[in-house]
Formats: sequence, structure tokens, C-alpha cells
Amino acid sequence: MTVTAYCACRECCEWKRQCLIGPPVYATGPHRGARKKVGITSDGTRAKKGVIAADITRYPYGTRMHVPGYGWGEVHDTGRLIKGDRIDVFFKSHRDAVAWGKQRLWVTVIR
Ligand SMILES: [Zn+2]
Repeated sequence: MTVTAYCACRECCEWKRQCLIGPPVYATGPHRGARKKVGITSDGTRAKKGVIAADITRYPYGTRMHVPGYGWGEVHDTGRLIKGDRIDVFFKSHRDAVAWGKQRLWVTVIR
């Protein structure tokens, strides 16, 4: 599969997806009132390491995948350009996502 990477920043959001980032929310608890950004995937879970965007007509939500160099992840997201044998793995930092680039890898899929 072709494996690309993304994070929750505005840049990754704008160049390939509808928009992963929800409206700013206000934290509760000790940081009450502070603005924070949240990344929410298309199936409503929080974007975090291990979240994979895939073509859900082939790989439905919840499909487990092992990506060499990334580890285990689960499909919780989609993307406009994510079709067929192409997936997108989530990284917390934009630098890590850019460093990943685009790779052709053997991905293990657990159905
Ligand atoms: Zn980014």
C-alpha cells in the first residue's frame, strides 16, 4: 500500500482533507476557559497516534492494520484522496508526519 502521514494541524487539514479539526473548544477543569484545538476523525473518535485513514469501502471503520515503521493502528478516518490501496497514518506532530513522507509498504490487515 501507499502510506502517507498526517497530523491535526491546519496545513495537513487544508491540503488533503475536508477538515479534521473541529471548532475551537474551551477546556473544562483546571484549564477552564482556555482554548484548545481538537482533532476529531470522521467517525467521531479523537485523532491520536494509531489512527489510520483509509478507503472505508474497502477497509471499514475499526479495521486493524500493522504498518511497518509505524506499528498497529485502527481505521477511524477517511480522506478525499484516500482511495484503494492508500492509507494515511496519524502523527501527533507535523514534523513527524512530514518526515514519514510517502512510502510503499506491506501493510498487514486484520479483518
Ligand atoms: Zn500537519
